[in-house]
Amino acid sequence: MAAKTPKRIEDFRGKDDLLVVTGAGGFIAGSLVRYFHDKGFARIRAVDKKPLAEWYQRTPGVENLVLDVSSPENCAQACDGAVEVYNLAADMGGMGFIERFRIECLRSVLINTHMIEAAQKAGADRYFFSSSACAYNVDLQKDARSRALKESDAYPANAERGYGWEKLFSEMVCQEYWAERGLKTAIARFHNVYGPHGTWDGGREKAPAALSRKVVEARDNGTYAVEIWGDGTRTRSFMWIGDCVNGIDMIMHCDELIATPINLGSCELVSVNDLLGLIEDIAGCKVERRYDLTQPLGVGGRNSDNTMIRRVLGWEPSTPLRDGLARTYAWIAEQYALRKAGRKVVL
Ligand code: NAD
Repeated sequence: MAAKTPKRIEDFRGKDDLLVVTGAGGFIAGSLVRYFHDKGFARIRAVDKKPLAEWYQRTPGVENLVLDVSSPENCAQACDGAVEVYNLAADMGGMGFIERFRIECLRSVLINTHMIEAAQKAGADRYFFSSSACAYNVDLQKDARSRALKESDAYPANAERGYGWEKLFSEMVCQEYWAERGLKTAIARFHNVYGPHGTWDGGREKAPAALSRKVVEARDNGTYAVEIWGDGTRTRSFMWIGDCVNGIDMIMHCDELIATPINLGSCELVSVNDLLGLIEDIAGCKVERRYDLTQPLGVGGRNSDNTMIRRVLGWEPSTPLRDGLARTYAWIAEQYALRKAGRKVVL
């Protein structure tokens, strides 16, 4: 890999510059807030529409605002004084959610439309948008052995209905704010992100969390049986949350990537069966696999082609899935035990 030193937030900002992060009651943005806090940034505004008690993480010393950023007035309030804006708010979930609730997913277009306008009016210097691998043409992902997706594969456009089209449209909005109004926008197409402090139950969780919880449950209730959506042969890659927040920082502060969508994902491809096998190893038990072919499945195979991120940043997400899963499994097992003991946990 080329020896490069990508720029990071501290190369551009003083510790008193105001950073605004939306979706901060959720998984990735909550971890991003902690990342900036741990770097010593003193003025962070975390924004989410959920009541504070339902936020997955609350970082000490951060200004937490409960605001729905799908309206222009609330976006203006959220962005007031911001130097950098990270917009990660979206109505979102795993396959079960995005296939069943396309309207909710499409309505996230209001969030980016109003947030970017408010960020620009507030005089912010840089704006980050969390796009998704769901923006890619689904025809290229029919097979479990489909080739990895490169950035140019989003066009000709045939994104995932609902969620994917919203992301693709919002990417274009970000590109035009740079072209016409000079707002420096950064666009990362995340491939499945996993780790502690994410959704692990309730219907919006993704495969690593869902399977980890099912194994914890199967051990606990003594059935040692786990239901799998589909036949387990579909393939995906999964990115550790620590790689994700690092990547967001580097992409946001790379001038070569302004208004340029880029993959942010792992290229360690596994099938759902492989994923469960790793979790079994971590849990130290074997489970019976019960395949449910009636559930939503998503595309046949999806992986991240990391040629561009390696070329531009000299870096790519590389935490081995086994290592990140061990930490995720331990966290979910702990949450499960706390809930069982009657302690309130946030899903
Ligand atoms: P998440 O559901 O944990 O967090 C999203 C947060 O946005 C939630 O807390 C929700 O309450 C908040 N939100 C939704 N609508 C809002 C509104 N109108 N106003 C204010 N807050 C609002 O999801 P996540 O996994 O942390 O995802 C963050 C971003 O990354 C999203 O844009 C998502 O589409 C994108 N993404 C995530 C993944 C992944 O694997 N997790 C993959 C691709 C893209």
